[in-house]
Amino acid sequence: MRFGLGHSLKDSMTSADSTAKTSNEAADTHRLIDASSASRALNLMGDRWTLMISSQAFVGTTRFEDFQSRIGIARSLLTDRLRRLESAGVLVRSRYCERPPRDEYLLTEMGRDLFGPSMMIIRWEKRWYYDPKVRAHNIKHSCGHDFIPECRCNHCRKELIARETKGEPGPGAGKEPAAKARAQRRSIVEGSQGTAAMLERSVEVLGDRWITHVIASAFYGHKRFNDFQQQLGVATNILSERLARLVALGILEQKLYQESPNRYEYRLTPKGLDLFPLVLELVRWGARWMSGPEGPPELIRHLPCGNIVTPLLTCSHCGEELTRESLQGL
Ligand SMILES: [Zn+2]
Ligand SMILES: [Zn+2]
Repeated sequence: MRFGLGHSLKDSMTSADSTAKTSNEAADTHRLIDASSASRALNLMGDRWTLMISSQAFVGTTRFEDFQSRIGIARSLLTDRLRRLESAGVLVRSRYCERPPRDEYLLTEMGRDLFGPSMMIIRWEKRWYYDPKVRAHNIKHSCGHDFIPECRCNHCRKELIARETKGEPGPGAGKEPAAKARAQRRSIVEGSQGTAAMLERSVEVLGDRWITHVIASAFYGHKRFNDFQQQLGVATNILSERLARLVALGILEQKLYQESPNRYEYRLTPKGLDLFPLVLELVRWGARWMSGPEGPPELIRHLPCGNIVTPLLTCSHCGEELTRESLQGL
Protein backbone atom coordinates (compact mmCIF):
# COMPACT_ATOMS: atom_id res chain seq x y z
CA MET A 1 0.00 0.00 0.00
CA ARG A 2 1.53 3.26 -0.95
CA PHE A 3 -1.10 5.62 0.23
CA GLY A 4 -0.11 7.61 3.28
CA LEU A 5 -2.36 9.36 5.72
CA GLY A 6 -1.31 11.48 8.63
CA HIS A 7 -1.77 10.16 12.08
CA SER A 8 -3.57 12.02 14.72
CA LEU A 9 -1.96 10.60 17.79
CA LYS A 10 -3.36 12.77 20.49
CA ASP A 11 -6.75 12.68 18.95
CA SER A 12 -6.73 8.92 18.93
CA MET A 13 -5.58 8.89 22.48
CA THR A 14 -8.33 10.99 23.80
CA SER A 15 -11.33 10.32 21.66
CA ALA A 16 -12.17 6.97 23.12
CA ASP A 17 -13.32 5.41 26.31
CA SER A 18 -11.99 6.45 29.64
CA THR A 19 -9.93 3.28 29.64
CA ALA A 20 -7.77 4.93 27.01
CA LYS A 21 -6.27 7.13 29.64
CA THR A 22 -2.89 5.60 30.06
CA SER A 23 0.32 7.07 31.29
CA ASN A 24 1.20 7.71 27.63
CA GLU A 25 -1.54 10.23 27.39
CA ALA A 26 0.14 12.82 29.57
CA ALA A 27 3.31 12.51 27.56
CA ASP A 28 1.36 13.09 24.35
CA THR A 29 -0.47 16.17 25.51
CA HIS A 30 1.64 18.61 23.55
CA ARG A 31 2.39 16.31 20.72
CA LEU A 32 2.43 17.64 17.20
CA ILE A 33 1.05 15.42 14.49
CA ASP A 34 1.56 15.30 10.74
CA ALA A 35 -0.96 17.59 9.13
CA SER A 36 -3.42 15.54 7.09
CA SER A 37 -6.65 16.46 5.37
CA ALA A 38 -8.17 13.08 6.16
CA SER A 39 -7.37 13.42 9.87
CA ARG A 40 -8.85 16.90 9.93
CA ALA A 41 -12.02 15.65 8.28
CA LEU A 42 -12.23 12.64 10.58
CA ASN A 43 -11.62 14.73 13.67
CA LEU A 44 -14.78 16.62 12.84
CA MET A 45 -16.95 14.02 11.14
CA GLY A 46 -15.68 10.74 12.63
CA ASP A 47 -18.24 10.65 15.37
CA ARG A 48 -21.42 8.60 15.24
CA TRP A 49 -23.72 11.43 16.26
CA THR A 50 -22.15 13.89 13.89
CA LEU A 51 -22.53 11.39 11.07
CA MET A 52 -26.16 10.76 11.90
CA ILE A 53 -26.95 14.46 12.17
CA SER A 54 -25.29 15.17 8.83
CA SER A 55 -27.05 12.36 7.04
CA GLN A 56 -30.36 13.62 8.45
CA ALA A 57 -29.50 17.13 7.26
CA PHE A 58 -28.91 15.65 3.81
CA VAL A 59 -32.40 14.24 3.64
CA GLY A 60 -33.91 17.56 4.63
CA THR A 61 -34.12 17.51 8.43
CA THR A 62 -33.58 21.02 9.78
CA ARG A 63 -35.24 21.28 13.19
CA PHE A 64 -33.96 20.31 16.60
CA GLU A 65 -37.03 18.25 17.53
CA ASP A 66 -36.89 16.37 14.23
CA PHE A 67 -33.21 15.56 14.59
CA GLN A 68 -33.92 14.39 18.10
CA SER A 69 -36.83 12.12 17.29
CA ARG A 70 -35.34 10.70 14.09
CA ILE A 71 -31.94 9.92 15.58
CA GLY A 72 -33.01 9.08 19.11
CA ILE A 73 -30.25 11.22 20.59
CA ALA A 74 -30.16 12.85 24.02
CA ARG A 75 -30.91 16.60 23.92
CA SER A 76 -27.61 17.58 25.50
CA LEU A 77 -25.64 15.53 22.98
CA LEU A 78 -27.64 16.94 20.09
CA THR A 79 -27.08 20.49 21.32
CA ASP A 80 -23.36 19.82 21.61
CA ARG A 81 -23.00 18.28 18.14
CA LEU A 82 -25.14 20.93 16.43
CA ARG A 83 -23.00 23.61 18.04
CA ARG A 84 -19.85 21.87 16.88
CA LEU A 85 -21.12 21.51 13.31
CA GLU A 86 -22.17 25.14 13.35
CA SER A 87 -18.81 26.40 14.57
CA ALA A 88 -17.01 24.21 12.02
CA GLY A 89 -19.11 25.82 9.29
CA VAL A 90 -21.05 22.73 8.20
CA LEU A 91 -24.41 23.98 9.43
CA VAL A 92 -25.77 27.48 9.76
CA ARG A 93 -28.54 28.50 12.11
CA SER A 94 -31.48 30.35 10.69
CA ARG A 95 -34.50 31.74 12.52
CA TYR A 96 -37.78 30.45 11.19
CA CYS A 97 -40.05 31.67 13.96
CA GLU A 98 -39.77 34.86 16.00
CA ARG A 99 -42.27 34.19 18.74
CA PRO A 100 -41.32 31.94 20.32
CA PRO A 101 -37.79 32.19 18.90
CA ARG A 102 -37.02 29.03 16.94
CA ASP A 103 -34.02 28.24 14.79
CA GLU A 104 -33.42 25.63 12.18
CA TYR A 105 -30.14 24.22 10.95
CA LEU A 106 -29.26 24.37 7.28
CA LEU A 107 -26.32 22.90 5.42
CA THR A 108 -23.79 25.48 4.27
CA GLU A 109 -21.80 25.08 1.06
CA MET A 110 -19.18 23.25 3.12
CA GLY A 111 -21.92 21.00 4.47
CA ARG A 112 -23.41 20.37 1.04
CA ASP A 113 -19.94 19.42 -0.18
CA LEU A 114 -20.16 16.40 2.13
CA PHE A 115 -22.19 15.03 -0.76
CA GLY A 116 -19.03 13.33 -2.05
CA PRO A 117 -18.12 11.50 1.17
CA SER A 118 -21.82 10.62 1.62
CA MET A 119 -21.91 9.06 -1.84
CA MET A 120 -18.83 7.04 -1.01
CA ILE A 121 -20.43 5.82 2.21
CA ILE A 122 -23.47 4.74 0.21
CA ARG A 123 -21.17 3.11 -2.34
CA TRP A 124 -19.43 1.01 0.33
CA GLU A 125 -22.67 0.07 2.05
CA LYS A 126 -24.38 -0.94 -1.18
CA ARG A 127 -21.48 -3.09 -2.19
CA TRP A 128 -21.15 -4.87 1.15
CA TYR A 129 -24.43 -4.49 3.03
CA TYR A 130 -27.10 -3.88 0.46
CA ASP A 131 -30.51 -3.68 2.07
CA PRO A 132 -33.54 -2.66 0.01
CA LYS A 133 -35.19 -1.27 3.15
CA VAL A 134 -32.50 1.38 3.55
CA ARG A 135 -33.67 4.51 1.82
CA ALA A 136 -30.20 5.65 0.82
CA HIS A 137 -29.66 2.36 -1.01
CA ASN A 138 -32.59 3.08 -3.31
CA ILE A 139 -31.50 6.43 -4.67
CA LYS A 140 -31.76 6.62 -8.44
CA HIS A 141 -29.71 8.66 -10.86
CA SER A 142 -31.25 11.06 -13.38
CA CYS A 143 -30.59 8.42 -16.06
CA GLY A 144 -33.48 6.60 -14.38
CA HIS A 145 -31.45 3.69 -13.07
CA ASP A 146 -30.28 2.17 -9.88
CA PHE A 147 -26.57 2.72 -9.55
CA ILE A 148 -23.52 2.39 -7.37
CA PRO A 149 -21.55 5.62 -7.03
CA GLU A 150 -18.07 5.31 -8.53
CA CYS A 151 -14.90 7.27 -7.78
CA ARG A 152 -12.75 8.01 -10.82
CA CYS A 153 -9.68 10.03 -11.66
CA ASN A 154 -10.73 13.36 -13.10
CA HIS A 155 -7.88 13.21 -15.60
CA CYS A 156 -7.85 9.67 -16.99
CA ARG A 157 -11.29 8.51 -15.79
CA LYS A 158 -9.92 5.25 -14.41
CA GLU A 159 -11.51 4.04 -11.16
CA LEU A 160 -9.27 4.97 -8.23
CA ILE A 161 -7.82 2.15 -6.16
CA ALA A 162 -5.34 2.33 -3.30
CA ARG A 163 -2.43 0.51 -4.86
CA GLU A 164 -2.43 2.82 -7.89
CA THR A 165 -2.01 5.98 -5.86
CA LYS A 166 0.81 7.52 -3.90
CA GLY A 167 0.65 10.18 -1.23
CA GLU A 168 3.14 13.04 -1.30
CA PRO A 169 3.66 16.22 0.72
CA GLY A 170 1.56 19.18 -0.39
CA PRO A 171 2.30 22.90 -0.03
CA GLY A 172 0.77 22.92 3.45
CA ALA A 173 2.76 19.92 4.71
CA GLY A 174 4.01 20.14 8.25
CA LYS A 175 3.09 19.48 11.83
CA GLU A 176 0.11 20.75 13.69
CA PRO A 177 -1.22 20.36 17.20
CA ALA A 178 -3.48 17.39 17.62
CA ALA A 179 -7.20 17.96 17.96
CA LYS A 180 -8.59 18.70 21.37
CA ALA A 181 -9.83 15.85 23.46
CA ARG A 182 -13.46 15.07 23.52
CA ALA A 183 -15.45 12.37 25.13
CA GLN A 184 -16.85 9.77 22.80
CA ARG A 185 -18.81 7.10 24.49
CA ARG A 186 -20.35 4.07 22.97
CA SER A 187 -23.85 4.72 21.88
CA ILE A 188 -26.42 5.39 24.51
CA VAL A 189 -29.30 4.29 22.33
CA GLU A 190 -27.56 1.65 20.30
CA GLY A 191 -29.87 -0.02 17.84
CA SER A 192 -32.65 2.46 18.46
CA GLN A 193 -35.37 2.84 15.87
CA GLY A 194 -33.80 6.12 14.85
CA THR A 195 -30.87 4.42 13.22
CA ALA A 196 -32.86 1.67 11.52
CA ALA A 197 -33.27 3.47 8.23
CA MET A 198 -29.77 4.81 8.24
CA LEU A 199 -26.36 3.69 7.27
CA GLU A 200 -25.71 1.61 10.32
CA ARG A 201 -22.64 -0.24 9.17
CA SER A 202 -20.89 2.95 8.20
CA VAL A 203 -21.80 4.56 11.47
CA GLU A 204 -20.39 1.53 13.25
CA VAL A 205 -17.13 1.88 11.35
CA LEU A 206 -16.77 5.64 10.92
CA GLY A 207 -18.42 6.67 14.16
CA ASP A 208 -15.48 5.50 16.22
CA ARG A 209 -12.36 7.58 15.78
CA TRP A 210 -10.12 4.84 17.10
CA ILE A 211 -11.38 2.59 14.36
CA THR A 212 -10.96 5.21 11.66
CA HIS A 213 -7.40 5.92 12.73
CA VAL A 214 -6.56 2.20 12.71
CA ILE A 215 -7.99 1.97 9.18
CA ALA A 216 -5.96 5.02 8.16
CA SER A 217 -2.84 3.39 9.62
CA ALA A 218 -3.57 0.25 7.65
CA PHE A 219 -3.75 2.30 4.42
CA TYR A 220 -0.45 3.80 5.46
CA GLY A 221 0.97 0.29 5.33
CA HIS A 222 1.04 -0.69 8.98
CA LYS A 223 0.23 -4.32 9.62
CA ARG A 224 1.55 -5.39 12.99
CA PHE A 225 0.21 -4.82 16.43
CA ASN A 226 3.38 -3.03 17.55
CA ASP A 227 3.35 -0.78 14.49
CA PHE A 228 -0.22 0.29 15.15
CA GLN A 229 0.57 0.75 18.80
CA GLN A 230 3.54 2.98 18.09
CA GLN A 231 1.79 4.95 15.40
CA LEU A 232 -1.31 5.60 17.43
CA GLY A 233 0.22 5.68 20.90
CA VAL A 234 -2.73 3.64 22.00
CA ALA A 235 -3.16 1.49 25.09
CA THR A 236 -2.81 -2.16 24.15
CA ASN A 237 -6.21 -3.20 25.47
CA ILE A 238 -7.93 -0.52 23.40
CA LEU A 239 -5.98 -1.45 20.31
CA SER A 240 -6.76 -5.15 20.79
CA GLU A 241 -10.44 -4.40 21.11
CA ARG A 242 -10.58 -2.21 17.97
CA LEU A 243 -8.53 -4.68 15.93
CA ALA A 244 -10.87 -7.47 17.01
CA ARG A 245 -13.86 -5.36 15.95
CA LEU A 246 -12.28 -4.61 12.59
CA VAL A 247 -11.63 -8.33 12.08
CA ALA A 248 -15.22 -9.12 13.10
CA LEU A 249 -16.45 -6.50 10.64
CA GLY A 250 -14.37 -8.15 7.93
CA ILE A 251 -12.32 -5.01 7.28
CA LEU A 252 -9.05 -6.45 8.52
CA GLU A 253 -7.88 -10.04 8.49
CA GLN A 254 -5.30 -11.76 10.61
CA LYS A 255 -2.41 -13.53 8.96
CA LEU A 256 0.15 -15.62 10.76
CA TYR A 257 3.62 -14.26 9.99
CA GLN A 258 5.69 -16.07 12.55
CA GLU A 259 5.35 -19.38 14.39
CA SER A 260 6.36 -20.32 17.94
CA PRO A 261 5.54 -17.94 19.28
CA ASN A 262 2.69 -17.33 16.87
CA ARG A 263 2.47 -13.74 15.68
CA TYR A 264 -0.18 -12.24 13.47
CA GLU A 265 -0.39 -9.23 11.27
CA TYR A 266 -3.49 -7.39 10.15
CA ARG A 267 -4.20 -6.67 6.52
CA LEU A 268 -7.00 -4.84 4.83
CA THR A 269 -9.42 -7.29 3.27
CA PRO A 270 -11.08 -6.49 -0.07
CA LYS A 271 -13.90 -4.95 1.98
CA GLY A 272 -11.38 -2.82 3.89
CA LEU A 273 -9.55 -1.76 0.73
CA ASP A 274 -12.90 -0.81 -0.70
CA LEU A 275 -13.05 2.04 1.84
CA PHE A 276 -10.37 3.78 -0.20
CA PRO A 277 -12.71 5.96 -2.31
CA LEU A 278 -14.30 7.21 0.92
CA VAL A 279 -10.86 8.04 2.32
CA LEU A 280 -10.07 9.91 -0.91
CA GLU A 281 -13.26 11.93 -0.67
CA LEU A 282 -12.48 12.78 2.96
CA VAL A 283 -9.02 13.92 1.87
CA ARG A 284 -10.58 16.07 -0.86
CA TRP A 285 -13.16 17.56 1.49
CA GLY A 286 -10.62 18.19 4.26
CA ALA A 287 -8.20 19.75 1.77
CA ARG A 288 -10.86 22.05 0.35
CA TRP A 289 -12.35 23.24 3.62
CA MET A 290 -9.74 22.77 6.28
CA SER A 291 -6.48 23.81 4.64
CA GLY A 292 -4.85 27.11 5.53
CA PRO A 293 -3.84 29.69 2.92
CA GLU A 294 -0.70 27.68 2.21
CA GLY A 295 -2.73 24.85 0.71
CA PRO A 296 -3.36 21.19 1.49
CA PRO A 297 -0.87 19.22 3.57
CA GLU A 298 -0.82 16.27 1.22
CA LEU A 299 -1.42 15.47 -2.41
CA ILE A 300 -2.31 12.13 -3.92
CA ARG A 301 -0.86 11.14 -7.24
CA HIS A 302 -2.58 8.74 -9.59
CA LEU A 303 0.19 6.48 -10.82
CA PRO A 304 -1.39 5.28 -14.10
CA CYS A 305 -1.72 8.84 -15.48
CA GLY A 306 0.78 10.70 -13.27
CA ASN A 307 -1.63 13.48 -12.30
CA ILE A 308 -2.61 14.72 -8.87
CA VAL A 309 -5.91 13.07 -8.06
CA THR A 310 -9.14 14.96 -8.12
CA PRO A 311 -11.92 12.44 -7.55
CA LEU A 312 -14.79 12.49 -10.02
CA LEU A 313 -17.91 10.73 -8.82
CA THR A 314 -19.87 8.98 -11.52
CA CYS A 315 -22.93 6.79 -12.01
CA SER A 316 -22.12 3.11 -12.54
CA HIS A 317 -24.97 2.85 -15.04
CA CYS A 318 -24.50 5.79 -17.42
CA GLY A 319 -21.04 7.06 -16.46
CA GLU A 320 -22.23 10.65 -16.01
CA GLU A 321 -21.05 12.76 -13.10
CA LEU A 322 -23.08 12.56 -9.89
CA THR A 323 -24.44 15.76 -8.47
CA ARG A 324 -26.93 16.29 -5.72
CA GLU A 325 -29.44 17.61 -8.22
CA SER A 326 -29.08 14.51 -10.44
CA LEU A 327 -30.28 12.14 -7.75
CA GLN A 328 -33.82 11.02 -7.11
CA GLY A 329 -35.01 9.84 -3.72
CA LEU A 330 -32.32 11.55 -1.66
ZN1 LIG B 1 -5.63 9.29 -13.58
ZN1 LIG C 1 -26.77 7.34 -14.45
